[in-house]
Amino acid sequence: MIVDPFDYLVTEDLTKKDRGELESIFLKREDGRILFLGRIPVASLYATFLAGIYFELMKIVGKAAKGLILTASRNGGYRAGRGIRRRYQKKFGELTKDKAIQIAKNMITVWDKCFGWGKFEFEFDDRNDKITVKVRESFEANGYVKLRKGNSEDPVCWMLLGYIWGLFEGLMDCKLNGEEKMCLARGDEFCVFEYSIVCE
Ligand SMILES: [Zn+2]
Repeated sequence: MIVDPFDYLVTEDLTKKDRGELESIFLKREDGRILFLGRIPVASLYATFLAGIYFELMKIVGKAAKGLILTASRNGGYRAGRGIRRRYQKKFGELTKDKAIQIAKNMITVWDKCFGWGKFEFEFDDRNDKITVKVRESFEANGYVKLRKGNSEDPVCWMLLGYIWGLFEGLMDCKLNGEEKMCLARGDEFCVFEYSIVCE
């Protein structure tokens, strides 16, 4: 059976699928390259690599480093979300909020199970338009602690916070506020990202 990866991404609930199935549908290996969704090049990095970049960046621009990484990651997430939304609308019609949230969960599940970004859980408070994302074993926080050989005073998962933030915004076509409330690198048990939906 040939499954269209895009249809699978937007029509199924992937959170309970196993890694083997997800990899067989989403990843194509070709000449030593790994292509996600058949065409997007991806690669694995040492967990300490991002933290190393952040430290160097902080030496140059100080606290502005967080804003730079956050904005770049949020833009990256937004582009991914918007691309999926447009393709969905062309093929299936209106993308409802519930559907957009399910697709975001599916995307993050792929980063979780196929690429080891962390173990993600999601909570939605519909009445208050709040999205809470809990991450165990964030690779970003783990990389920080390993490189620094100790804890941070502030949350450090800038890339994860930003990417998920932008992904929701691109899929839902509206603005969110976001913040990392708890972080493994600060000594918390896990990381928690909180987003509130600003638009209608
Ligand atoms: Zn964190």
